[in-house]
Amino acid sequence: MNKQIVVLGAGISGLTSAYLLSKKGFDVKVLEKKDSVGGSIESITERGFLFDRGPNSALETTPVIGQLIKELKLEPELLYASKQSNKRYILRNNKLHSLPMSPQGLLKTKLFSGKAKLRLMAEPFIGKSKDGYYQSLAEFVRRRLGQEFLDYAINPFVAGVYAGRPEDLSVKSAFPKLYALEENYGGLIVGTIRSIRERKRRAEVAKQSAKMLSFKSGMIALPKAIENYFGNNILLSSEVVSVDKSENGFSVSYHNNSVINKIDCNAVLSTIPAYEASNIFTKYDKDFKTHADAIYYPPVLVYYLVYDKKVIKQNLDGFGFLIPAKENKSYLGALWSSVIFSDRADESKAAFTLFVGGSRNPDFVKEDRISLLTKVRKEFEEVMGINAEPVFTSERFWEKAIPQYNLGYIEHERFFDDFEKRNPGIFVSGNFRGGISVGDCIKNAELVAEKISNNVK
Ligand SMILES: Cc1cc2nc3c(=O)[nH]c(=O)nc-3n(C[C@H](O)[C@H](O)[C@H](O)COP(=O)(O)OP(=O)(O)OC[C@H]3O[C@@H](n4cnc5c(N)ncnc54)[C@H](O)[C@@H]3O)c2cc1C
Repeated sequence: MNKQIVVLGAGISGLTSAYLLSKKGFDVKVLEKKDSVGGSIESITERGFLFDRGPNSALETTPVIGQLIKELKLEPELLYASKQSNKRYILRNNKLHSLPMSPQGLLKTKLFSGKAKLRLMAEPFIGKSKDGYYQSLAEFVRRRLGQEFLDYAINPFVAGVYAGRPEDLSVKSAFPKLYALEENYGGLIVGTIRSIRERKRRAEVAKQSAKMLSFKSGMIALPKAIENYFGNNILLSSEVVSVDKSENGFSVSYHNNSVINKIDCNAVLSTIPAYEASNIFTKYDKDFKTHADAIYYPPVLVYYLVYDKKVIKQNLDGFGFLIPAKENKSYLGALWSSVIFSDRADESKAAFTLFVGGSRNPDFVKEDRISLLTKVRKEFEEVMGINAEPVFTSERFWEKAIPQYNLGYIEHERFFDDFEKRNPGIFVSGNFRGGISVGDCIKNAELVAEKISNNVK
């Protein structure tokens, strides 16, 4: 008989792992608390406008994404981001500056002062840090690239990826590749050039050159396709409440319509958020709670706005813009959603997705929601040269949005590694281990499936 695995959570981590495990010959069941699959991935279409309320796109950083698209027959649905969206803007002094993409662009840009540009050129001559392991991203970037680059490039970038703050994030855990460039090659510029050559040999794609993709029906298409593959083996509205040891492995208990059900299995893969996993696995090790509950998930509000194109003065020729903390705005930045994927609104309209809060401003939750949205909208309209009401708006509040790989995260990573070794048959995954992006979750799912097939025999 095939070995049986129960996967907790039907976000992209759980679904991809489940799919890859099933391909390896395991019998897999997925238990999901909500009444739909996708977790942080949610795509809603209203009045013809497609609002991706979680991730808007994924970077094709691993061949597994292409494999999933092919095997799940998603090719006709696939969309790649428009060429225009290669251009990215940063807000400085209320003006949008395009982010330089070449050495010539860097020389010409008004985003950075002459002093900051000279400072960047000194990077190859700066030595390694002695205590690199416990450094924040801010310290790392300040030392290698200078304060202004930190303030006007890294600070907004980190808000865009993690909704986080460079002062809090651990460079080693949150940006392991950046950290490795210094560790392995002594610097970022030399390291980037040399690692491009090595990556080519391994057929991996760097985040900065990976293609950005989504689907005609939005990001939800991928979780939905995996759901179709599994049929009844994904149980929705099924909240896992405990995992107990049993004769042949484990017994997983879950609530469904106020009834408690149980499934027996040989191994359990958890992909639910850390603060949820803590309720289930602390009985195996009291320190599980200490580590899992210490992982901070700040709140984020996603605000979707659609306008008639004719009322927008700003040229719509890019991905959108990010806002450095120093600019003191009420939101983190805006994606120009219908420029990235043109079918997101009809020809005469433009759709935007704005992000509010994150660990830069978690206290926004205390503000009156309507006044906050009005303030955000006014600030956005000023930047975009818009002098009219939106034709459609929508919003999604995420109380606990994205795990922050903050300073000291290495201790959590070590704990979860050891926990798995001490508790054979329990595997702990999800976006709080191995990267938060959809691409990282998929890459990680492949590693986890490999680990399970090597250990559960
Ligand atoms: C607003 C926002 C924007 C983002 N933008 C991007 C982007 O543009 N690009 C990108 O690459 N990434 C982006 N991300 C990050 C990325 O979407 C997530 O990190 C990723 O989707 C997480 O997947 P996951 O499966 O690990 O976790 P989740 O999606 O959180 O899935 C976990 C699942 O477990 C379920 N669950 C919880 N408790 C239980 C229980 N007791 N029993 C059963 N099930 C349970 C939950 O309901 C959920 O479905 C964004 C995230 C957010 C929130």
